[in-house]
Amino acid sequence: MIELAGLTKRYGEKVAVDDLTFAVRPGIVTGFLGPNGAGKSTTMRMILGLDHPTAGDVRIDGRRYDQLKDPLTYIGALLDAKAVHGGRSALSHLLCLAQSNGIPKSRVREVLDTVGLTAVARKKTKGFSLGMGQRLGIAGALLGDPRILMFDEPVNGLDPEGIHWIRTLMKSLAAQGRTVFVSSHLMSEMAVTADHLVVIGQGRLLADTSMAEFIRRNSRSYVRIRTPERERLLDVLHGAGITVLEAGGDALEVDGEKGELIGELAARHQVVLHELSPQRASLEEAFMRLTAESVEYHAHSDTAGLQDWGAGWEKGS
Ligand code: ADP
Ligand code: MG
Repeated sequence: MIELAGLTKRYGEKVAVDDLTFAVRPGIVTGFLGPNGAGKSTTMRMILGLDHPTAGDVRIDGRRYDQLKDPLTYIGALLDAKAVHGGRSALSHLLCLAQSNGIPKSRVREVLDTVGLTAVARKKTKGFSLGMGQRLGIAGALLGDPRILMFDEPVNGLDPEGIHWIRTLMKSLAAQGRTVFVSSHLMSEMAVTADHLVVIGQGRLLADTSMAEFIRRNSRSYVRIRTPERERLLDVLHGAGITVLEAGGDALEVDGEKGELIGELAARHQVVLHELSPQRASLEEAFMRLTAESVEYHAHSDTAGLQDWGAGWEKGS
């Protein structure tokens, strides 16, 4: 269990983390979602005692990080910035880490095996791909067999196979009863990974909810309609007791999955339709609405981010 109480971090005038209070529970994957600059990495660094809170407090199983004896056996983390000495092999990096943390050497072989790096264990890490580097970072996080794991944007820049591997690993760690806390700026990533969702924007808590509840509340299905005979169609639909919303431009919207019904009504009354399309408000839209006022870099969310967000949540988990 990780517990944050009023956790706050200021850098001069800038409030990076603003009075965050929430708990990360064992046995599930908790997604930590927020646009770039929302304060996710800063929060995670404070959890690990790498940054000092301006105010508030964070506890790991009831204790502050600096009160933990052999902290790697309580909490393992993969942070955004990779800090592996390129001249070393994966094996010697992990052996070193094990030694300085009172972890038996035999554990190094186990974690190399878990992350699939056994075959390249003696190779210098400077030749590692991004995916191999992530695997090595994860091996380090797993080394102390901790009950709590934290990953900061672990799938950034990975290929589909690497992404799939990390998702599966996180779920299996949670299924073993561990606490798994993972950050992302992509709603689509959270939707297929997380059981619980904590959303922040500009350092502030915006949502703390189960993924199922978030999906239930935020994925409205509706039908989009365009017609050159707007008034006639409105009469027909109102006559059938259907509530119509005026959408942007010349479009109309009807809540629910009423596409066939509307098509049949239009045909019966000989109203011309130019469009009749079932739609689903995406979780990405819900996330963007939630964080709208707090997006620091609009340019990013309007372009690259949007396509990512649109990509994959329907695959669902
Ligand atoms: P995220 O990980 O969600 O993208 P960060 O925690 O990295 O967000 O950053 C949150 C905010 O704090 C950003 O506005 C960032 O520029 C600022 N920030 C982070 N670290 C520092 C620092 N060392 N000095 C000054 N500002 C910082
Ligand atoms: Mg970050």
